[in-house]
Amino acid sequence: MASGRLAVVATAVLIGTIGATGCSASRGDSGATTAVADGSAPGDEVAVEQHQGRAGAAGIGDPDFPNDGNGGYDVGHYRLKIEYDPERKHLSGVTTVEAKATQNLSRFDLDLSGFTVGKVTVNGAAARFSRSGDELVVTPSRTIPDRSAFTVEVTYAGQPKPVRNSPNLGTYGFIPTSDGAFVTSEPNGARTWFPGNDHPADKARYDFEITVPEGVTALANGEQVGSPVTQGGKTTYTWRESHPMASYLATVTMGRFELREGKTASGIKNFAAVDPRYSGSLNELYNQSGRITEYWSKVFGPYPFSSTGGVIDDFPAGYALENQTKPMYGGFNPGDDVIAHELAHQWFGDSLSIRRWKDLWLNEGFATYAEWLWSEHKGNASAERIFRNRYAVDSGAAIWKYAPGRAKPDDLFNDSVYTRGAMTLHALRQRIGDPAFFKLLKTWNAEHRYGYVTTPEFVALAERISGKQLDGLFDAWLFTAKKPTTW
Ligand SMILES: [Zn+2]
Repeated sequence: MASGRLAVVATAVLIGTIGATGCSASRGDSGATTAVADGSAPGDEVAVEQHQGRAGAAGIGDPDFPNDGNGGYDVGHYRLKIEYDPERKHLSGVTTVEAKATQNLSRFDLDLSGFTVGKVTVNGAAARFSRSGDELVVTPSRTIPDRSAFTVEVTYAGQPKPVRNSPNLGTYGFIPTSDGAFVTSEPNGARTWFPGNDHPADKARYDFEITVPEGVTALANGEQVGSPVTQGGKTTYTWRESHPMASYLATVTMGRFELREGKTASGIKNFAAVDPRYSGSLNELYNQSGRITEYWSKVFGPYPFSSTGGVIDDFPAGYALENQTKPMYGGFNPGDDVIAHELAHQWFGDSLSIRRWKDLWLNEGFATYAEWLWSEHKGNASAERIFRNRYAVDSGAAIWKYAPGRAKPDDLFNDSVYTRGAMTLHALRQRIGDPAFFKLLKTWNAEHRYGYVTTPEFVALAERISGKQLDGLFDAWLFTAKKPTTW
């Protein structure tokens, strides 16, 4: 996420009134405690089998977001079939989840906020289901054995309701607009438009089939499969993201758009879309996105996905989000610094994903540092100069009181996670020198491409590549709530 200096201000104002995130553990976060008994009622014909299984946990295990994601299975693929009518603000969907059990599973959850669920099947057979907060609780007719593949199909409909007034991103999720919807879901808004395992620790591949009124364009991650098909006043767009993707990076942004398609200098597909209000920005968005993707491919290693680009919509989000292959710019014309930030996330955050939100500096510190590298590359202020400016801030300033290596759940996008995260990387660069530092950035990407990363893994790799002991540096910059004095 970037940007906004605006969004950060708004966030700060909200914290006092809203308090902690809305993730109260209404059900046990450990599946083990709620298990066997409630999966099987007396007289239930599958009771015997269900005694061999237990319920999947209501959360994936992130203690800061106890109900986000779910336990007991791992999703490999989503097929999202969505029909949306902007006039009625009505969405009807069929989500097909292909997953693999990670335990004997008598029952499991999907995350879904709002909507009426009409039907749930597991491996083609009708399954019982109930709702509890944002949990859709599914009880298959027979226990799913550990390590076996299974398919869940959920049919649902209703008016999507985005998350509003969050102390983190303000408004996010599926946000209806006058001509469609602006869809940006960090950290946990995917549940406002499809049922799934809504946490970055379970990435999956996606196919999208989006039906909208004729004249409306539907955009999603990855590339289009075939041409849109129009029939009876409706058009269906098919998109495919063939690389693993975190749920918060998925999008089905739709509306009236002007498009430009082509390829970057080295042949990566480039797709830019702008709301007609931003007509004059289309070429600039297209050109800068292509140019910056090429440059980061040199600095961070090969571009991880099959296409790049960006979308400017007219919803005044005040922020941008690094949706995989298609960063979304919400109601502003992004400067090249913001584009550089969002495209750097394609490596840091999208290809390399965090398992726990507390590690968010691995996304935001790196993307912010990328802005400094871009400035340096253009011959503007060097990263060193920007670092010096930021470091000059008084030792009593808020940024020194928030240790960025441990992002706080009710204040994830604090300026410290961004700026002090970036300063950490610059302090590291000064300590180990340019050759080791840039080798580290490439090796980090190569070793964890499409996977997951943690801070201790980054520290260990930095030490391995530089041959230096660096725990003191990282402790001072990431984990101490005061201004570092040495590095
Ligand atoms: Zn960001």
